[in-house]
Amino acid sequence: MYATAAVMAGKGAPFQLREVVLDEPRPDEVVVRVVASGICHTDLIVRDQWYPPEPPVVLGHEGAGIVERVGSDVTSVRPGDRVAMSFDFCRTCRNCLRGRPAYCTDFFPRNFGGRRPDGSATVRTGDGSPINASFFGQSSFSTYALAPEHTVVPLPSDLPLEVAAPLGCGVQTGAGAVLNSLAPPPGSSIVVFGAGTVGLSAIMAADVAHCGPIIAVDLVPERLALAAELGATHGLHGTADGLVEQILEITGGGTDFAVETTASPAVLRTAVDSLNFGGTCGVIGAAPMGTEVSLDMSALLFDKSVRGIIEGGSVPRLFIPQLIDLYGRGRFPFDRLIRTYPFAEINRAAEDSEKGVTVKPVVLM
Ligand SMILES: [Zn+2]
Ligand SMILES: [Zn+2]
Repeated sequence: MYATAAVMAGKGAPFQLREVVLDEPRPDEVVVRVVASGICHTDLIVRDQWYPPEPPVVLGHEGAGIVERVGSDVTSVRPGDRVAMSFDFCRTCRNCLRGRPAYCTDFFPRNFGGRRPDGSATVRTGDGSPINASFFGQSSFSTYALAPEHTVVPLPSDLPLEVAAPLGCGVQTGAGAVLNSLAPPPGSSIVVFGAGTVGLSAIMAADVAHCGPIIAVDLVPERLALAAELGATHGLHGTADGLVEQILEITGGGTDFAVETTASPAVLRTAVDSLNFGGTCGVIGAAPMGTEVSLDMSALLFDKSVRGIIEGGSVPRLFIPQLIDLYGRGRFPFDRLIRTYPFAEINRAAEDSEKGVTVKPVVLM
């Protein structure tokens, strides 16, 4: 079937809307008519080729829409169902069997490989040449997307699809880092470095988890103001003199938890230096492969941990409904991060995200 996709044709090049041909669904796949898709930082760093797949490629991995068709073996959703799409995982490796699909040992090829796990292409150009897609099992910058059944999450009928879209990556990444991975006990101190979608979701989750103090660190005053409205008790400018000392003072000797979302080695160093004895720093920001960081080994001896976290350690079909429930009760107002754009203005949406004008751009198909 035909679809209109935002194709990234060369490294760093703007997205171009083009007609493409979507493959027929396999027995375990669904075709989703994409209504809305968030733009995530990972889409932009793949555009800039810090990570594969190579161009030409259809990116997008925060899609939400309506199931159009299902493969012959699909049982959990039907045409007409509203779904969000999330990352792919194999379901058979040891980490998947342990209920940790975000650490699936096949995560990288399935989400960044550009093809189905069997190597076949899901998207072709009008003349039949295969192009890379299957990005996070979806490639949602398209009017239609193919997704494996187990990666789609059914949605309640009253949740707008443009609100649901970012749950599939950015929002669950930040919220899950706190609620699933770090799991701070009530009263824990926490510092969140970077107040973008991931960091602000972590701040809202820290509020849900009854953390305090909750310190936001960012370079943009407007984002610190938004962080304060969403639960941060303190906001600090990222280049302030004595940043670590200020954190030690606010937290009474060091923070119990830190969340690093910026992918900057210098910020990770600051985050680890801000920890109290026994503290844990979650590393979420995706740095270019090979990025190294220096840490004070002697300080780490005091039971300090540095821990990488992918996709908030989430099981999407469990965690996304939990976030929707919190949202419905007014305790997780992540819709405040979202600004919508027409699909045709996807490049302006990406630019606004990079300039810090928009926290979470969502394009509407
Ligand atoms: Zn697996
Ligand atoms: Zn993402």
